[in-house]
Amino acid sequence: MARNLAPKCKQCRREGEKLFLKGVKCFSDKCAIERRNYPPGQHGQKKGRLSDYGVQLREKQKVRRIYGVLEKQFRRIYKAADRSRGITGDNLLQALECRLDNIAYLMGFGSSRAEARQIVRHNCILVNGKSINIPAYLVKNGDVVEVSTKAKNQLRIKASLDAANNRNFPSWIDMNIKEMKGVFKNRPDRADLSSTINESLVVELYSK
Ligand code: SF4
Repeated sequence: MARNLAPKCKQCRREGEKLFLKGVKCFSDKCAIERRNYPPGQHGQKKGRLSDYGVQLREKQKVRRIYGVLEKQFRRIYKAADRSRGITGDNLLQALECRLDNIAYLMGFGSSRAEARQIVRHNCILVNGKSINIPAYLVKNGDVVEVSTKAKNQLRIKASLDAANNRNFPSWIDMNIKEMKGVFKNRPDRADLSSTINESLVVELYSK
């Protein structure tokens, strides 16, 4: 299975903003963006103006990196979003938000999307009582997502859940911390999602 093994903090520095790829470290002053907010590499500190194509490309890479999706898969999600009714950009973000690894992250079962993905792969997550180990599985409205009985004692899951609880959960998720279980109430509206993402740039890039 292909994976993006590029150093996570360098990915944030390339995009010039926090993408929250490393869990606890992202909320501490050890975050690389707090210390060196310029692109990695020898020429990272040189100032240069990006072309329109460059701006669109960077935005697409940023979204891909946030959700931990590789190019081929991302393009497939985009095509499905384009075919669906409604605004393509909104459909794209909603499809990414509904991925099981993302929902497991939002419910606090992993400290980052990468860790949540691993937890899903290791059969630690149940959807409606059934073990699902596919990170790209699309969670539907009303689905119950929970930690499996055998994984409930894992310290890393408990720690992530505590940290997520302190940061509050999104409004479209109904969490029961004690039972390590949450209900995905409904697909989020665009207004509920990150305002730092400009999905129209991704649509412009792929529409060429
Ligand atoms: Fe990005 Fe987190 Fe690294 Fe900061 S600590 S640069 S937010 S991955």
